[in-house]
Amino acid sequence: MIVTKPADIMDVLRKLQALDDESRDIRVSRDAMVSSMERLQKVLNHLDRELVDKRDKLTEAETWNRTKTAELEAEREKLAKAKAKLSGVTRSKEYVAVNKELETVRKTITQREDEIKNLDTAVNEFRDAIAREEQKVQDLRSQAAAEERSNRERLAVMDARIAEVDLRRKAITSRLDNSIVNRYARIAQARGGVAVVRVLDSACKGCNMILQPRFVENILRASSIVMCPHCSRYLYAETTHEPDGSVAAL
Ligand SMILES: [Zn+2]
Repeated sequence: MIVTKPADIMDVLRKLQALDDESRDIRVSRDAMVSSMERLQKVLNHLDRELVDKRDKLTEAETWNRTKTAELEAEREKLAKAKAKLSGVTRSKEYVAVNKELETVRKTITQREDEIKNLDTAVNEFRDAIAREEQKVQDLRSQAAAEERSNRERLAVMDARIAEVDLRRKAITSRLDNSIVNRYARIAQARGGVAVVRVLDSACKGCNMILQPRFVENILRASSIVMCPHCSRYLYAETTHEPDGSVAAL
């Protein structure tokens, strides 16, 4: 049943606005929840990529360490050979030369051993750091999963509420002429979703502009549909009847 009396139209428009406010509030919470979940997922993906890079670097360092260790082994073999050679030397000139060679190899070995020790320490520290980070990411991931499970339930509740409000909205709009519904939609779109506002202390609560007394009188009488001359929103006043029967704003 389409309403035609201005007061009835305003009544339905106010209900429509209330439903849209309700729907918008739910959507805002819903969107905030979804984007917070997406943000966390982005952080996790970033941390995962960083971990992959670090593991690659660790593999490189481990390979380098193995190369250095192989080099050390080669030097040790050289040392063993030089020692064997020394035991077979009889001439003192040759003895000095081989001894010198031994000395050089020993020095190289000490150097290599130091290098490998430092490398081992660095590689172990890096490995530990990666393990700690992996644990951190894993904790964060299970936290995110738990949050997502509880959020999924809340999202389902919100979606159900949005659907329910939409149904009520359909019922409400069927009571208005299409041109009014369309105009309401245009104003709402242009004015941050608010197309119906209250007049309080002679001011439009949508744009806060002071209205002329004749406007306020029209609104109080509710005998015609009044729109704010400044922001085009539908205006209404909470009214009460004075003991003498006149209408007054609340
Ligand atoms: Zn206004």
